[in-house]
Amino acid sequence: MRETASAIKNNVLSNLHDYLIQFEANAKANGVTVHWAADGAEHNAIVHSILKRHGIDRMVKSKSMLTEECHLNEYLAENGIEVIDSDLGERIVQLAKEPPSHIVLPCIHKKKEEIGEIFHEHLGTEAGMSDPQVLTETARQHLRETFLSRRAALTGVNFAIAETGEFVVCTNEGNADMGAHLSDVHIASMGIEKLIPQRKHLSVFLRILTRSATGQPITTYSSHFKKPRKNQEMHIVLVDNGRSRQLGREDFRNSLKCIRCGACMNTCPVYRRSGGHSYHSAISGPIGSILAPNWDMKKYADLPFASTLCGSCSNVCPVKIDIHNQLYKWRQVIVKEGYVDKTKALGMKAMQLTLSSPSLYRAAGKMGRMTLKYAPFTVNNRFNPWYKQREMPEPPKESFREWYLKRKK
Ligand code: SF4
Repeated sequence: MRETASAIKNNVLSNLHDYLIQFEANAKANGVTVHWAADGAEHNAIVHSILKRHGIDRMVKSKSMLTEECHLNEYLAENGIEVIDSDLGERIVQLAKEPPSHIVLPCIHKKKEEIGEIFHEHLGTEAGMSDPQVLTETARQHLRETFLSRRAALTGVNFAIAETGEFVVCTNEGNADMGAHLSDVHIASMGIEKLIPQRKHLSVFLRILTRSATGQPITTYSSHFKKPRKNQEMHIVLVDNGRSRQLGREDFRNSLKCIRCGACMNTCPVYRRSGGHSYHSAISGPIGSILAPNWDMKKYADLPFASTLCGSCSNVCPVKIDIHNQLYKWRQVIVKEGYVDKTKALGMKAMQLTLSSPSLYRAAGKMGRMTLKYAPFTVNNRFNPWYKQREMPEPPKESFREWYLKRKK
């Protein structure tokens, strides 16, 4: 299945232009209005103009990493439009005024007690209440009222089918359906790489997405949208926002095969210890670290270096993206372009020198052991933030080499 999914996506990337035109023509024939957005700002302006035309100032939104990437919520709030996220995890982080920390499980970093506090503050649950069933029921009632009173709904797109002009949205909570079916205006935001050629290819992607994301055989709600209901308006916004540029970078183009399952994050030893927020980009983890430098190489220059290059991400990726190779390649590009941090570059130079000379390496080891023994304050001091949450190990009496030579005698 991974081979098949990868081959289908490679085909899409090689023929993206044709599939996009085909999708647009079929969607239009279905009665859907299709918009093209070159970047996040254009996407936001398009969504705003649709809402403005209908005099709508409140909108319900199901999970869409693209809108996170475009900072849609902030933009609409500045323009006086209230957005309610309807995915439970997203709603929790929205109330907590935090960005999602995972692309499938946006509030995986929160304990139920913390969620209890947020609900107490915003939704009026009893203080100290952290029973997941009570909290979920409260969210359900709160969101139900939202679904019934909003006239516009925005959803993401998991897969768009060029052959038919329809699109599929996968959720486990049914929130995309609730929003879209009860709204007068349905806006679907999709990255241009979300296409698949034919409906039959869904049989591969619907299974592989959920299997890699949550281990389910299929997502609870896999909803197909083709045309607007009677008296409903349906819009699709096709967003580029750097994707064409990534397509043109030969070493990195296949990162566009990503179906946002989150498996690479779940397996990554760095993500698992540090969490999504430490990546400071809309999409975190290994895949975020190869997508973000394409958006802004200077701002995200640190991300490809935050990896052990263990390759676990590439092993689990259902569409066979060679993520760890791309992390390594990004490092080379970033160094060549001069975006790497000066102290890091200097440190690496010193390391290169030390590691390429056995005598220098031995001397450095000795010096390190002496420093830890006689002058630990050079590391253990309040100016070193790294030390704050750590304890230094006992320095060994001798190096491995010294120990080995002694034993050999
Ligand atoms: S890169 Fe692969 S494993 Fe990671 S989110 Fe995308 S499809 Fe899933």
